[in-house]
Amino acid sequence: MDLDFDRDHIWHPYSSLINPPPVYPVARAEGVRLYLEDGRGLIDGMSSWWCALHGYNVPELNRAAREQMEKMSHVMFGGLTHEPAIELSRKLVQITPEPLQRVFLADSGSVSVEVAIKMALQYWQSQGKPQKHRLLALRNGYHGDTFGAMATCDPVTGMHHLFASQLTQHLFAPAPQPKFDEPCEDSDIAELQALIEQHHDELAAVILEPIVQGAGGMRFYSPEYLKRVRELCDRYDLLLIADEIATGFGRSGKLFACEHAGISPDILTLGKALTGGTMTLAATLCTDRVAEGICRGEAGVFMHGPTFMGNPLACAVSNASIELLLQSAWQQRVADIESQLRRELAPLADAPGVADVRALGAIGVVEMREPVDMMRVQNALIEHGVWLRPFGRLVYAMPPYVISPEDLSRLTGAMVEVLGNAG
Ligand SMILES: *Cc1c(COP(=O)(O)O)cnc(C)c1O
Repeated sequence: MDLDFDRDHIWHPYSSLINPPPVYPVARAEGVRLYLEDGRGLIDGMSSWWCALHGYNVPELNRAAREQMEKMSHVMFGGLTHEPAIELSRKLVQITPEPLQRVFLADSGSVSVEVAIKMALQYWQSQGKPQKHRLLALRNGYHGDTFGAMATCDPVTGMHHLFASQLTQHLFAPAPQPKFDEPCEDSDIAELQALIEQHHDELAAVILEPIVQGAGGMRFYSPEYLKRVRELCDRYDLLLIADEIATGFGRSGKLFACEHAGISPDILTLGKALTGGTMTLAATLCTDRVAEGICRGEAGVFMHGPTFMGNPLACAVSNASIELLLQSAWQQRVADIESQLRRELAPLADAPGVADVRALGAIGVVEMREPVDMMRVQNALIEHGVWLRPFGRLVYAMPPYVISPEDLSRLTGAMVEVLGNAG
């Protein structure tokens, strides 16, 4: 591969084109392994950023793509519909919490967040309350890279000051403090509650990642906290937008992370693992109340409709992926991965440079005291045959659910080996 051309011409995620760090050429992927051009196989601990639940080159997904491709890869969704979109939407309505009945198929996670925000704003417009146009988000939250989504990301890590004149000024509550297995005291929710009490007249919705804050810190928080947010939204008449783009499809141990708290949002975003990591597709679901509210308003329609909306190829693969997941013993697998991650990463808790070690579902996190030298750690892990992508102080693993206990031990072994000496 022409890595010189890559370095000189191609942006990678959050990359510099002046003196960029090296990228590794992948030739193919199979099972839980990425194969570099030189033939080395790396155990993938990232699921390509939460996506590849079933690993790579999955026969069922390939077959679904091939069969759909021979019928039609794409048709416009305006004025037309097709079986893959109907089947997918039916599945999503079935497997998500009960009141979520209406489905908008979008083309990427960030777009599904834009759609969710637009739904909330249009809903309040229609109710004759256009002044309810701001959002309340959480610090350490991450909701995507487009402007609407970016305005709801943590202001510091999202570098809001760079875009200050262009970003909507939303409200931010502190990141939830009680951990996953801790109760939520009144004091833990007090600041969020105070913001809602002060500002509910101008607030359209609360937007959050339920239970797991992903890219903004890999933090796991108390289901009771989420329950309390739901209660406050009900009490003060705010919509709740749950962004399950990362947590959806079993990653946290429940099919959807909201289930840990037994709550359902008014609007739900899904993406990432929706197609089992094969191609880009996302969805925004909402309740009847939200959908009907929107459509009774001035516009009479929901004002959104991307060109590739409901792409049949992506929908067909998504159907196959959801089927494969639901037919598998995913819940047991994810539980087994969680206990193995806990057990095998535990020795790191005492390592000098390590601040915290935690696991939830198929997510294992080692939080260091200082930012890690990403390239050094990444290269050392590659030497051990493992692909991970640390950021900031975090080195974390979220492998495909199909990973064998032996491969998972290799993965955690490499982390222990490399991070145990990193103090
Ligand atoms: C990744 C992510 C997004 C953005 O999705 P893209 O497909 O990258 O646009 C939004 N919200 C959460 C919680 C995510 O993890």
